[in-house]
Amino acid sequence: MMCAGLIDAHKADVLLLEKNEKLGKKLFITGKGRGNLTNIADVRTMLECISSNPKFMYSALYSFDSAATMDYFEALGLKLKTERGGRVFPLSDHAYEITDCLSRRLKQNKVNVCLKSGVKKILTDNGRVSGVLSADGREIQADCVIVATGGLSYPSTGSTGDGFSFARELGLKVTDTCPSLVPLNADKTICTPLAGVSLKNIGVSITDRKGKKLFEDFGELLFTHNGLSGPVILTASSRLPKNTDISGLTLHLDLKKALSFEQLDERLIREFKENPNKQFKNSVGSLFVHKMEEMMVALSGISPEKPCNSISREERQGFARIIKNVEISLKGRGSYDEAVITKGGVDVRQVDPKTMEAKEIKGLYFIGEVLDVDALTGGFNLQIAWSTAAAAARAVSGS
Ligand SMILES: Cc1cc2nc3c(=O)[nH]c(=O)nc-3n(C[C@H](O)[C@H](O)[C@H](O)COP(=O)(O)OP(=O)(O)OC[C@H]3O[C@@H](n4cnc5c(N)ncnc54)[C@H](O)[C@@H]3O)c2cc1C
Repeated sequence: MMCAGLIDAHKADVLLLEKNEKLGKKLFITGKGRGNLTNIADVRTMLECISSNPKFMYSALYSFDSAATMDYFEALGLKLKTERGGRVFPLSDHAYEITDCLSRRLKQNKVNVCLKSGVKKILTDNGRVSGVLSADGREIQADCVIVATGGLSYPSTGSTGDGFSFARELGLKVTDTCPSLVPLNADKTICTPLAGVSLKNIGVSITDRKGKKLFEDFGELLFTHNGLSGPVILTASSRLPKNTDISGLTLHLDLKKALSFEQLDERLIREFKENPNKQFKNSVGSLFVHKMEEMMVALSGISPEKPCNSISREERQGFARIIKNVEISLKGRGSYDEAVITKGGVDVRQVDPKTMEAKEIKGLYFIGEVLDVDALTGGFNLQIAWSTAAAAARAVSGS
């Protein structure tokens, strides 16, 4: 939609083929229905938030950055606001306004929109694109074909990986894909009883079988029936290399990130001194949210009924060590049905980063999530879609 709206209507007749019965189904659910369409971060910061192939995005982002995105939408009448972390949303908090805006622009730009029009195959002739074959068997001639079919995440929105098949059929390489910005499945004996518990300022690190640290950050997380979710976990899923076998990894939680081990030990000494005759299990209420107390007492290895004044130094320090390092074994990534994005896609080495044109097939372009580029949450993934769309539009318009 962005690309079709930006192509110079004097230079090309644009046909937009969408297999759904309406445009922008995924846009509708972005940002929990509020549409976090970009981020005010400068390009350098934005590149740091791109997890796969940031260098490929350099030219496209500098040519059409978040300021350009905001100008574009504002010129189309969309009022915007910026929230925590530089996230930009429609002022109305309604993602559908983004789709409405883009649809209006398609009309202005005289784009011929065909809904319920899936593409089955891309046609080529002598190393150049010649058109597409539609799902109902029509051959549509074209000098240029721009593939904007998305990835595999939330397939109910229409993103079912068709662009990957098109690329493979044409002999292009598609790198391995996996769900990303996705909850992680983990040891249910710890996670399931805590399902629904949300924790802030938690240190999270992930190590492999040899103890090598693969990820470290802190933030907010949520226990689920199958494992863990929440912002810091989604970030972890994006930062872990896609070929990593998650099921061999261990996640470590530091439940008192703000305290050093010594400070935490002091706090436990104080807590136990103030309640000498209380049973251990009744003395931890100020340390954890209620739903976690029982789990932490069990993990401590200290008898729950033991009076606080009988807890030994070793037991107390062992407990402090566990609070700062709850180990949870990971079982795998969540599925595409719950993944915000797909990691992997059309290998960017085969695509010109200035134009998004396939190097070996003239007139064929790939934009958005179908490419092997993905980023953290915060409006960066849509910015990747807008910037790559703008690059292809410029190329096709000859500007
Ligand atoms: C729940 C959720 C929330 C998100 N929130 C945000 C957010 O707030 N901010 C952000 O930056 N990113 C967010 N994202 C990611 C962002 O939505 C995607 O990265 C972005 O939409 C990718 O755009 P795209 O145009 O490449 O692909 P898509 O948006 O997936 O669009 C692809 C389109 O192509 C159509 N199509 C597919 N195959 C064919 C075919 N064969 N023929 C014809 N049409 C076809 C599909 O029906 C679809 O309409 C979110 C994603 C999800 C799932």
